[in-house]
Amino acid sequence: MSEQQQFDVVVIGAGPAGYHAAIRAAQLGLKTACIDAALGKDGQPALGGTCLRVGCIPSKALLDSSRQFWNMGHIFDQHGISFADAKMDVGTMVGRKDKIVKQFTGGIAALFKANKITTFYGFGQLQPGNVVVVKQHDGTTVELKGTNVVIAAGSDSIELPFAKFGEHIVDNVGALDFTSVPKRFGVIGAGVIGLELGSVWNRLGAQVTILEGLPTFLAAADGEVAKVAAREFKKQGLDIRLGCKVSNTDVQADGVHVSYTDAAGAAQEIVVDKLLVAVGRRPAIKGLLAEGTGVQINERGQIQVDEHCHTGVDGVWAVGDCVRGPMLAHKGFEEGIAVAELIAGLPGHVNFDTIPWVIYTEPEIAWVGKTEEQLKAEGTPYKAGSFPFAAVGRAVAMAEPAGFVKVLAHAETDTVLGMHLVGASVSELVHEGVLTMEFKGSADDLARICHAHPSLSEAVHDAAMAVHKRAIHKAN
Ligand code: FAD
Ligand code: NAD
Repeated sequence: MSEQQQFDVVVIGAGPAGYHAAIRAAQLGLKTACIDAALGKDGQPALGGTCLRVGCIPSKALLDSSRQFWNMGHIFDQHGISFADAKMDVGTMVGRKDKIVKQFTGGIAALFKANKITTFYGFGQLQPGNVVVVKQHDGTTVELKGTNVVIAAGSDSIELPFAKFGEHIVDNVGALDFTSVPKRFGVIGAGVIGLELGSVWNRLGAQVTILEGLPTFLAAADGEVAKVAAREFKKQGLDIRLGCKVSNTDVQADGVHVSYTDAAGAAQEIVVDKLLVAVGRRPAIKGLLAEGTGVQINERGQIQVDEHCHTGVDGVWAVGDCVRGPMLAHKGFEEGIAVAELIAGLPGHVNFDTIPWVIYTEPEIAWVGKTEEQLKAEGTPYKAGSFPFAAVGRAVAMAEPAGFVKVLAHAETDTVLGMHLVGASVSELVHEGVLTMEFKGSADDLARICHAHPSLSEAVHDAAMAVHKRAIHKAN
């Protein structure tokens, strides 16, 4: 092993949380190193974590390609556009996705270089005394000492004991890389990944069956939003079965046999060509911590941290998917920046109350803040105002009339407590709610802000006005 190298900050993991921590630390003048073990599809080191390699970005690339294809068969005729025969070349679609991934993973390497961050490609293990030993891909080992160490190790897919990953049973990595459209596509878990990747292959012609364990669809979302989304998904042909207890899978010559008990308690079986298991993710901490570091793991397998992402061990921090909180890239971004700023002696803070959620299906689903169900359960007095996209000129002109926006405000103070959206481009519109909540704004504030006409954002405007029963474009 070569001589120990000293840094102000050593970051383990170059996913969204880690690369934000590293870049912000470097911007603040701290001597920074970042270690990442991941390899891309070409076998070369690829920075950017799950998000850039096999998560957010590649899934959105496929969602966009498949949406174009779906629109050709289902929407274009409304515009008077016809054509002889629409075909999807899966190889070209996946190749386009791979190119986008390469562009962005390479982009992180370029940003690291520009910020003078020293990058180590290999597996890092934290030892006592803030020492990180890196086994590099070239077979050599280096030892780094950080005045501060930021753990940003991310997460891995949960594998079910009776559904081991392989050629036919896959996680997100496999489901982003099929070489042809599976005729029958099964999914275990109607969560975010199940719905997004289920939508991709459904749009391309697969017969998709999603088996969800819980009796409620999208339990974390506002009930009315989940209801509209379920109705639209059903129209698209997604077969979502709730309350299913999957007990076994068996790969046979004719496909993967998936045995489960349905909501009524009856034994059932489906046979599919490919099966995606999307039942959640767990912190990727195997081999990360040597004996005696003092870093604690909680009962959910996450690295234990306080509200400032500090582990309790002097100079050791942890951020992103490997700690508590939602497993979202932008939550990791904010934690990475906050920790770098805290290390530099600046204030650093993440407001968990205003983290937006987006599901990139068609229609999109998005929310920020509390749902009506949560407000009722906690006894908070509130007023709700909602507005349908069917009454928004721009949405109708775009042939995207499904869904609505709902604003929830405190009954006495009018402070916005939540915004729930389902419909076209709500991944963008939700930020009106985020901004209003971050500035502790009221429904009246939002209602008095001028929104361009015609735009989808008018649904937000009218929903805010509807809180006080003064929406212009609907009866109150
Ligand atoms: P990761 O992105 O997992 O990065 C951790 C990195 O650390 C990895 O590169 C790993 O190789 C490396 N590493 C781990 N341990 C070590 C070690 N000991 N030594 C060296 N390197 C190590 N979130 C959203 O907000 N929006 C989305 O649209 C979205 N879509 C998603 C779609 C899919 C299919 C999936 C799977 C996830 C999606 N997510 C999305 C979630 C998002 O990808 C994660 O929340 C995010 O990547 C977490 O960032 P992170 O930096 O904590 O960890
Ligand atoms: P998830 O938690 O969103 O959904 C998992 C689903 O599987 C849940 O509905 C759960 O009830 C169900 N489930 C669990 N065990 C089951 C079983 N044995 N049988 C049947 N159903 C079962 O998890 P995910 O979809 O795997 O995604 C993982 C994480 O990745 C999410 O927490 C999310 O934060 C992140 N992600 C985010 C986005 C986005 O922001 N658009 C996209 C993809 C992934």
